[in-house]
Amino acid sequence: MTPVNHFPKLTIHSQKLKENTQLIMDTCGQLDIQVSGVVKGTNGYPGVLESMIGAGMTHFASSRLDQLSRLKSMNPDLHTLALRIPMLSELEDLVEVADCSLNSEQETLAHLNQVCQAKGITHEVILMCDLGDLREGYFSNERLLEAAHFVEEECPHLYLKGIGTNLGCFGSVRPDKVNLQELVENARLIEESLRRPLDWVSGGASSSLPLVLNKDMPEGINHLRIGNSLFLRDMEEDYDFNFQGLHGDIFTLEGEIIEVRNKPTYPIGDKVVDAFGDEAVYQNKGIRRRAILAMGRQDLGDMTRLLPLDPGISLEGGSSDHTIVDVTDSDRAYQVGDIISFNILYEHVMFATGSPYIHKEII
Ligand SMILES: *Cc1c(COP(=O)(O)O)cnc(C)c1O
Repeated sequence: MTPVNHFPKLTIHSQKLKENTQLIMDTCGQLDIQVSGVVKGTNGYPGVLESMIGAGMTHFASSRLDQLSRLKSMNPDLHTLALRIPMLSELEDLVEVADCSLNSEQETLAHLNQVCQAKGITHEVILMCDLGDLREGYFSNERLLEAAHFVEEECPHLYLKGIGTNLGCFGSVRPDKVNLQELVENARLIEESLRRPLDWVSGGASSSLPLVLNKDMPEGINHLRIGNSLFLRDMEEDYDFNFQGLHGDIFTLEGEIIEVRNKPTYPIGDKVVDAFGDEAVYQNKGIRRRAILAMGRQDLGDMTRLLPLDPGISLEGGSSDHTIVDVTDSDRAYQVGDIISFNILYEHVMFATGSPYIHKEII
């Protein structure tokens, strides 16, 4: 027999996701910015894709080809963008499922052109500029311009759709008027040199939304790749913005209690390291009532950052399969078998939507 998972359970609220999708598309649309909806953070979960398509989203992006493939099988007319600069070993599949890809290596572009030639198709490319975040992208403007000419003149099976940048990922650099203006200027240089306009100047991810809201986005940025803010509001505090009207509770996670007991809070005995090899720090808060939930780091990543809906609950820690919460201050007298609900962060969404151990439901 196949055991059935009832808990942990992830509930996805489809109507709220649709409203977020429409609000972000409308807000960006007012500045003539096209949005590609980034679905990698939800593992391209089918119900999530259906909700976004239902909301009218026509452009999608992911770093994972199987998610782009799923989108194409749902509707071949959807535009798909491959976000991670490609591996040579995936080019054959990439051009079948992605209409467009981000790129930063001439060798890869040359191979991409050959693969498309053999298949008799054309593939769109966006050249990435590194404006200081130090992940992918051309660092020098001369190399970027060279690459643009290479695609335009020597790769008849590639179409140079535009240029783009990624910020706030490795180097924690904030997208701002200065670095994105530089991207626009790079685009104008390429356009003058090629004597034709580029379709897209792709100005980043959710971390670029504050510029849209504040009407600070440099003119000329006309494409964004938005994932996180479609689903969550957990970036707004760090990036100092308030996207009014967005739902922050699209996902609810529920875990089931398998033990409730009063216990000391400071471990007893000679201490080594915890289950993950870390030297954990323990605070002695005396005897407390705590519950163990049947879910852990394998299901959720860092479960100590979960956000309990019951304000009387705090996260104490856990291991691969266990999450320990302190319920002493709650108004509820929790028992074995009771369910505790949480709001979750991007990391938890990523783990939970990909985990075969989590029961998922879209309502
Ligand atoms: C993940 C990713 C995005 C989307 O980032 P969010 O913060 O989820 O909006 C955009 N561009 C690239 C290249 C990415 O890898």
